[in-house]
Amino acid sequence: RQPTDSPLYALLTAASDYYRHALKQHPTRKAAVEYLKGRGLTGEIARDFALGFAPPGWDNLLKHMGGDSLQQKHMIDAGLLIENADTGKRYDRFRDRVMFPIRDSRGRIIAFGGRVLGDDKPKYLNSPETPVFHKGQELYGLFEARKHNRNLDEIMVVEGYMDVIALAQQGLRNAVATLGTATSEEHIRRLFRLVPNILFCFDGDQAGRKAAWRALEATLPGLEDGRRARFLFLPEGEDPDSLVRKEGTDAFRARITQHAQPLADYFFQQLTQEADPTSLEGKAHLATLAAPLIERIPGANLKVLMRQRLAEITGLNGEALGQFARSAAPSV
Ligand code: ATP
Ligand code: MN
Ligand code: MN
Ligand code: MN
Repeated sequence: RQPTDSPLYALLTAASDYYRHALKQHPTRKAAVEYLKGRGLTGEIARDFALGFAPPGWDNLLKHMGGDSLQQKHMIDAGLLIENADTGKRYDRFRDRVMFPIRDSRGRIIAFGGRVLGDDKPKYLNSPETPVFHKGQELYGLFEARKHNRNLDEIMVVEGYMDVIALAQQGLRNAVATLGTATSEEHIRRLFRLVPNILFCFDGDQAGRKAAWRALEATLPGLEDGRRARFLFLPEGEDPDSLVRKEGTDAFRARITQHAQPLADYFFQQLTQEADPTSLEGKAHLATLAAPLIERIPGANLKVLMRQRLAEITGLNGEALGQFARSAAPSV
C-alpha cells in the first residue's frame, strides 16, 4: 500500500480543484456545461461527484500548477502530465474533456476519467496505473455511495461513470462502476466486505453480457452462505443511464424487483444455452462446464444445492459430479 503521505494525493486534489473551478469559471466552459445539461445532470449532482472540466489546450493545468521540476515529475507520476519521450516536452494529459475524479474508499482522489464532449475517440480517457491508482481494485462511486449511506444492504455494479451518476440523481445511490476493466475477484472481495448483496447491471449489448459472465466467474469464490449476487439484464441498446432517465426511478426499481436474476438461475440458464441438456452429449458437456465452477463456491449450502440442480439436469449423480469436478478443477 502507498503511504498516506504520497505527494501525489495533494497534486491530484489540486488538479481536481482546478477542473471544478474551470467548469464554473473558465471562458471555454460553456460547451461542457451544455453537454452535462444535455445529459440530464443537475448542478447538484455535478457537485456531489465533483465533476470538472479540463479546458482545451496543451498546458492549462501545467501553467496553473506551475511548480518546479520535481513537482512536474510528480505530476507525471500522478498521470496528470505526459512527457514527450523525444523532446522532453510536458503537456496536460486531459484536454477539452468533462472530468470525473475517482476516489479511493477513504475519499482521496486517486485518478480521473475524462470524457470528450462529442463523439470523438477515445470517448473516455482514464488515468494510467500510478502508485496510487490500481485499476483492477478501485470502484468508481463507492466512496460517494458509502458517504450517502453507511449501512448499504446491496451495491449495484455498472459499467460507466454516467451510469453511476444518472442512477444517483434518480435516487439510486448505491451504484459503483468498474470503469472499463472486467470485474475482478478483488472488486468482489471489497464489495462483500461492505454488503451481503451485489446486483450486476451491465449494458444491454454483447459487451455487457460478456461482462456479466465474467462478473459471475469473479463472484463465485466470494459466495459464502448468506451472500447473494443477482444480475439485471437490460433491453438491447440500453444502459442504466439511458434506461433510468427514460423510465424513471419507480419503473427501474420495479424492474430490479421483478427481473433481477439470482446468480444460480443465470448460471444454469447460460450453460444450458451453451450445452444442449436434451442430448446425452450435451449433458456431458454441461457437466464438464458447470461442475468445476460450482466447486469454486465456498458456501457449503449453495454449493450443494447447485450440485443437486446440475445432477437433476444431467442425470449424473452428485457423487460422480463431485469426483469429476475435483479431478477437472484447475489445481490452485
Ligand atoms: P457514455 O454514456 O458517456 O457515452 P458509457 O459509459 O455508456 O459512455 P461505454 O462505451 O458503455 O460508455 O463504456 C463503459 C465504460 O467503460 C465507460 O464509462 C468508461 O469508464 C469505460 N470506457 C469506455 N470506453 C473507454 C475507452 N476508450 N478508454 C477507457 N475506458 C473506456
Ligand atoms: Mn457499453
Ligand atoms: Mn452510456
Ligand atoms: Mn454504456
